[in-house]
Amino acid sequence: MLEPVGVLPQSAWRLDATAVAYENEILCDVDALNIDSASFRQIAGACDGDPSRIAANVIALVAERGKQHNPATGSGGMFIGRVRTIGAALRERIDLREGDRIASLVSLTLTPLHIDEVLRVDPACGRIWIRGSAVLFASGTYAILPDDIPADVALAVLDVAGAPAQVRRLATLGATVAVFGADGKSGILACVAARERVGPSGRVVGIAPDAATAGARLLLDHGYVDAFVAADAREPLAAFESVASTLPELADLTISCVNVPGTELASILCTRDAGTIYFFSMCTSFTAAALGAEGVGKDVTMIVGNGYAKDHAAIALQMLRDHPPVLAYFLDRFVSPSPIA
Ligand code: NAP
Repeated sequence: MLEPVGVLPQSAWRLDATAVAYENEILCDVDALNIDSASFRQIAGACDGDPSRIAANVIALVAERGKQHNPATGSGGMFIGRVRTIGAALRERIDLREGDRIASLVSLTLTPLHIDEVLRVDPACGRIWIRGSAVLFASGTYAILPDDIPADVALAVLDVAGAPAQVRRLATLGATVAVFGADGKSGILACVAARERVGPSGRVVGIAPDAATAGARLLLDHGYVDAFVAADAREPLAAFESVASTLPELADLTISCVNVPGTELASILCTRDAGTIYFFSMCTSFTAAALGAEGVGKDVTMIVGNGYAKDHAAIALQMLRDHPPVLAYFLDRFVSPSPIA
C-alpha cells in the first residue's frame, strides 16, 4: 500500500512496510539506522537530546509513514542489516545471498521500514540500534559490508559516500576548493578527495564553526587542507570575509556539507564567478540558492547533491584504506562501545 496512490516511494506519504519480500524485493532484518545528519540534528533538537524521547519520536514517525522520512527536513539516512529473503525474480540476478550483511545505499525516505524495538540511541553519531525489518526494491542499491572495516565505520562513511565520489569528478588539478562543514563525515571525505585531485598546486580550505576540533586537526595535520577557517556559514558576510582573507581568489569549487539550514549565501559568496557549488547538504533550499545567487549577481553553476554516484561506496571505503589517518579518525569517532556485530 502506498499513499497517495500513483506516486513513487520517495514522494509517498506512507509506505506499506509489511515484512514480506515480493518477487522483485529483498527483505532485511535491520540492526542499525544511520539517521542523516540534518534529520538527526532536527529530531535531537526537538527532543532536547534525550535518547528515550528521540527513540519515541523515531518509532512514532516510522509507524505513521512506514519509512524514516523526517517531514521537517525531508531527509532519511540508511540502514545496516542482514538479508532475510530474496524475492524469486532476483535470486539469479544479484550477487547477494540470504544471511549477507549489507548497508543500504538508498535513502530511508523511500525504504519500507518497520521497527519492533529501539535498542539504543547514540546521539553523538546519529545512530539508532533497532530490531526491525526493511524492504529493498530491485532498483535499490546496497553494499555488502567489507571484512576489513568495522560495520560502525562503514555505516558512517557509506551514508555520505556520494560526496567524495562527486568531488573526485568536479575538482581539477590546480583548483581552489572550499568545503563548508569540513570537519563532519562528508566534509572530511570531500577534503581528502579534493586534495587528491587538486594536487600540490591547488588549494583546499575547510570551513566549520570551530577550527580546533579533532576533525579540523586531522585535516590540517595531514595536509588534507591548506587552511581551516572558523566561520558560521549562517552569517554569510562574516563567513565570506573570513574565507576571502585566506582565499582571496575565492573558490573554483565549493562543497556544502553543513547540517544546518540558511547557509546557501555563504557558499555562493565564497565561490568565484563562473565557479561551481556542489550542495551536498540536505538543508539546502533550492529557492534560497537560486534567488541568493541572482541577488548578489553571481554567475555560478549550482549542483544538487545527488547521493548516488557510480561506484561511490567502493570509492569511499577505498579512501579509508588509502588514508590511514582518516581511517583512524573514523575508528575513534564511530566505533561504539557495543559495535554492530
Ligand atoms: P556531520 O558529520 O554532522 O557534519 C556536519 C558539518 O556541518 C560539521 O562540520 C558541522 O560543524 C558543520 N556545521 C554545522 N553548523 C555549521 C555552521 N553554522 N557553519 C558552518 N558549518 C557548520 O554531517 P554529514 O553526515 O557529513 O552530512 C552533511 C550534510 O549532508 C547533512 O546536511 C546531511 O543531511 C547531508 N547528506 C546528504 C546526502 C546526499 O545524498 N546528498 C547524503 C547524506 C547526508 P561542527 O562539527 O562544528 O558542528
